[in-house]
Amino acid sequence: MAYVITDACIMDFLCAAECATAAIAPASAADAAVGISHLFINPDECIDCGNCASICPSGAIFAEDELPAEKAHFAAKNKAYFN
Ligand code: SF4
Repeated sequence: MAYVITDACIMDFLCAAECATAAIAPASAADAAVGISHLFINPDECIDCGNCASICPSGAIFAEDELPAEKAHFAAKNKAYFN
C-alpha cells in the first residue's frame, strides 16, 4: 500500500519536503512540469509513514485503502507518473 495525492492538492510542496524517502514528485516548483495540477507519490518508494497526509493543509493525501470512491482513480494516476 502507499499514500496517494488527489485533486485537492494545492501544490505547496510541504509534503515533498517532509517525505523521508523522497517519494513525492515533483519536489519543488522549479521541478514541476507545466500542466500538472497536483503532486504524485511513488508507491514503490512510499513507506506508509503518513507524515505527508498529516501536514497537508488541503486534505489532499489519503492512504490508498482510505481513498473515497470518487478519488480511487488517483492511485493509478500517482503510480503512472513514475512509469
Ligand atoms: S506516507 Fe511517508 S513515505 Fe509515503 S509519501 Fe507520505 S511522507 Fe513519504
